[in-house]
Amino acid sequence: MPLNPAANAADAAAIDALLPQTQCTRCGYQGCRPYAEALARGEVALNRCPPGGAALIVQLATLLGRAPLPLDADCGREGPTLLAFIDAAVCIGCARCLPPCPTDAIVGAPNLLHTVVPQLCTGCELCLPACPVDCITMQPRATGDTAPAAADNRQRYQQHVTRHEQQRRSRAALLAERKRGARTPESGS
Ligand code: SF4
Ligand code: SF4
Ligand code: SF4
Repeated sequence: MPLNPAANAADAAAIDALLPQTQCTRCGYQGCRPYAEALARGEVALNRCPPGGAALIVQLATLLGRAPLPLDADCGREGPTLLAFIDAAVCIGCARCLPPCPTDAIVGAPNLLHTVVPQLCTGCELCLPACPVDCITMQPRATGDTAPAAADNRQRYQQHVTRHEQQRRSRAALLAERKRGARTPESGS
């Protein structure tokens, strides 16, 4: 039977509401919402989210009417949400860690020390491979220091995506304008 697109969208929203929203991509998708949509379409297993772990698998199994499975070890291991830490003595201020951070949890100006805002860090680890001097490490959160809530992560990620899309369009428009200018003969010549 063909999928009902409206029902499918509702399913994806209900599934997405259960996901941790770290946007870590460990499930193999570019974020929580794409994984939720694939689950709603029945295309993927429900055991691919290490941040959600065993508790999430039970919730997904109940929602989807599927059997629970052990967490897929290929996606990673379940554990406490960690916090990124930047070694101030090593950071060269290159800013390469900023674009991959899904919640804009890293602050700093070019050529100056960057630092992580603990209240915004989802523990996704996406900043680690971006750093050319390997000065970012993941560390346990202090006792009583909780990771940001999923709803906050989702909102900040949506803002991050929107801002980057606006910047991409602005750059494309500027480039097109420059190309047009380069092709236009100078007036009066
Ligand atoms: S938290 Fe990570 S692994 Fe879980 S659904 Fe979101 S992006 Fe995928
Ligand atoms: S600081 Fe690093 S670990 Fe924390 S949310 Fe940003 S990219 Fe993820
Ligand atoms: S990528 Fe590494 S060196 Fe560059 S600003 Fe970020 S933490 Fe500092």
